[in-house]
Amino acid sequence: GSMTVGELAKLLHKDASEVIKKLIFLGVMATINQELDIETIQLVASEFKVEEVEVKIPVEEDDFETVEEKDEEESLETRAPVVTIMGHVDHGKTTLLDAIRSTNVTSGEAGGITQHIGAYQVEINQKKITFLDTPGHEAFTMMRARGAEVTDITIIVVAADDGVMPQTVEAINHAKAAKVPIIVAVNKIDKPDANPDTIKQELTKYELVPEEWGGDTIFVNVSAKQRTNLEELLEMILLVAEVNDYKANPNKRARGTVLEAELDKGKGPVARVLVQHGTLKIGDAFVAGNTFGRVRAMINDKGRRLKEADPSTPVEITGLTEVPQAGDPFMVFEDERKARAISERRSIKQRQSEMGANSRVTLDDLYKHIKEGEIKDLNVIIKADVQGSLEALRGSLEKIEVEGVRVKSIHNGVGAITESDVALASASNAIVIGFNVRPESQAAVAAEQEKVDVRLHNIIYNVIEEIEQAMKGMLDPIF
Ligand code: GDP
Repeated sequence: GSMTVGELAKLLHKDASEVIKKLIFLGVMATINQELDIETIQLVASEFKVEEVEVKIPVEEDDFETVEEKDEEESLETRAPVVTIMGHVDHGKTTLLDAIRSTNVTSGEAGGITQHIGAYQVEINQKKITFLDTPGHEAFTMMRARGAEVTDITIIVVAADDGVMPQTVEAINHAKAAKVPIIVAVNKIDKPDANPDTIKQELTKYELVPEEWGGDTIFVNVSAKQRTNLEELLEMILLVAEVNDYKANPNKRARGTVLEAELDKGKGPVARVLVQHGTLKIGDAFVAGNTFGRVRAMINDKGRRLKEADPSTPVEITGLTEVPQAGDPFMVFEDERKARAISERRSIKQRQSEMGANSRVTLDDLYKHIKEGEIKDLNVIIKADVQGSLEALRGSLEKIEVEGVRVKSIHNGVGAITESDVALASASNAIVIGFNVRPESQAAVAAEQEKVDVRLHNIIYNVIEEIEQAMKGMLDPIF
């Protein structure tokens, strides 16, 4: 997993003495045969000028991405479908999610305390359905962008008193792009001005045609508030699931996706994971993104302790060493040593891709870099005051394309610009965009030192325009 000073020096094409000097500079007294931890390796690698160095860590054959073996048909068993609810704001996504969850608390489970673990399961006709707890296409697409495919079926909620709205269309497009089947829930039919047939009519424009009109889209009229027709909606989900025959092999090491993760005051790092293949068990050693651990405890969405979790089961697990990210892949390995080694390798690989940089870019000299063909992507880090603007900004920026050069958001988040944002920008030749946020004082100092271009805005249009102008070489210099 880790490597010695000597090995690192070789990798960096440096003398061991130079590496040792850097280490001393960083406050680490080391000898040539000393094993270094991952953080130190990364620090040293970034201390040497990035453009001189191409760090390549040898990749073992059984690396994370390639380890999945093909399942024999007979090893596959039917699993619960995984459903995401999407639609325009205020059309009733959250109310519907809550209504389905509470409708389905059977008497036996009434004692369990509902836990928010990123997803929940309901049972109807002895069959289970898993619902992802975060509604909306932003979360859905964020997961996809990170390579996680978790949703089998999408429910598009349209309020019968409001009709098809911009985010309804976005949701439809996102579901279609993912090739995920759509069920339309026409909501708020309890309202006097509800007009479900108008919704059906409007949706034909988006190729969602109800069966009675010769199409193949299932429409269900519901009232999330009054809990009308929820059972019918669940039955329709089971119908679509039956047609698509979702299966997985439960008899192997678990593999899945991190839905959420956080540092819990009492429990330490927790990850809410959707198991997608195999069965996850207490004591299993695993990798989640760049971190690893051993499953200490597992609880389900009813707060029950589980010993095992099979495919399509969401669980909250403890026993991690650090907090992974939503959308990170999750995978069990034969032992903790292996898991640790794989997670370290993944950290290094991520670091490498973040370091794929030439000289530092600023908006003012961007055009020159583009013209010289040095830049294929303009890397940006976006920080904003709220998730909504963040998504909107990122969406708009990633649409920009000038002479084949595109904007690539390598990191984004809600909150002030931190020192670590600046560090990432510095390591990956990115610029930092702050929307309605400012850099923390340490971050401002670091940006100055590292010559990282930080742009602060409070109007989305201005951000887009500035970036576009810079890419075209038409940016007015700021004096
Ligand atoms: P979201 O933004 O899509 O998650 O929408 P919410 O679930 O927060 O619902 C927005 C508003 O619509 C809330 O005030 C809900 O009480 C209301 N609402 C949701 N479903 C229904 C429904 O079936 N009938 C009526 N009358 N109101 C509803």
